[in-house]
Amino acid sequence: MFRQSMASVAAAAIMSLTGASASAQQYPTRPVSIVVPFAAGGPTDIVARSLADAMGRTVPGANFVVDNAAGAGGTIGVSKVARASPDGYTLLVHHVGMATAPTLYRKLAFDPLKDFEYVGLINEVAMTLLVKTSLPVQGLKDLFPYLKQNAAKVSLANAGIGSASHLCGLLFMSAIQTDLTTVPYKGTAPALADLMGGQVDMLCDQTTNTVPQIKAGKVRALAVTSSTRLSILPDLPTLAESGLSGFDVSVWHGLYAPKGTPKPVVDQLVAGLKQALKDPAIVKRFAELGTEPVADAKASPEALRAHLAAEITKWAPLIKKAGIYAD
Ligand code: ASP
Repeated sequence: MFRQSMASVAAAAIMSLTGASASAQQYPTRPVSIVVPFAAGGPTDIVARSLADAMGRTVPGANFVVDNAAGAGGTIGVSKVARASPDGYTLLVHHVGMATAPTLYRKLAFDPLKDFEYVGLINEVAMTLLVKTSLPVQGLKDLFPYLKQNAAKVSLANAGIGSASHLCGLLFMSAIQTDLTTVPYKGTAPALADLMGGQVDMLCDQTTNTVPQIKAGKVRALAVTSSTRLSILPDLPTLAESGLSGFDVSVWHGLYAPKGTPKPVVDQLVAGLKQALKDPAIVKRFAELGTEPVADAKASPEALRAHLAAEITKWAPLIKKAGIYAD
């Protein structure tokens, strides 16, 4: 009895000496949910599942489970995390949509700069401009005149207002000064399935979703949205190369927790994220999909928050100029 209580006094003393709190010592004791605000099988989902798998190895005792809470351009899933208990058991993986939502949505149930704890950036990835294989267009040279002549009947899929595919489509339509019919989905996994099935004509989506289908010839890729060509798809020109000067869309993903999540828990997640991004399995998986983990310094709360704030500032005037708003 006496021995036991001496042992617990000693343990408490060690914990206070090292500054470790009980919440960090005991975290996690049950599965941790990572909310993805888009449909399963799409690019955000692929990044989150790869990360969940790697962090299951780098956060001691952890089991990360992906929860797809899709809809309204990602804002439904983000709201769910903003309202979740800040105990480290609900996290969010989201992309640039976190930065576009405040300008695009008149009513938003969260504030990206106030309602979250920031764990770190994960990766950056370019997008590809795709058409269905039956569209009579082999390259960008054919696409521009085809769209001018057929604008009224060409459909462009996206993952809802504020999604990366929506932004890419907006910039593209504004660059070619042609409006197409946009078709919203709950993520680009179902949009890509419909593109392969021929139900929609065009889609702009991250390489994380598109590389396998491009290589299998199930969709036709016309260009990449980055400022330089990609080594994974070396024959694809950039949109900028093809005359749409300045067209540069790169999608970034970050890992978040609800505001008020205890710092020792966030610290544990940051350490797990940093290690996970060096995991050979994730590096290989990302490379196959045309992306790579961010450098170590960017996998940090400060880097994610600073990047998010800069992206909100960057996208606001472009969105306002396009005059697109959602309720
Ligand atoms: N790629 C999608 C987007 O356009 C989202 C997703 O399904 O991951 O934002």
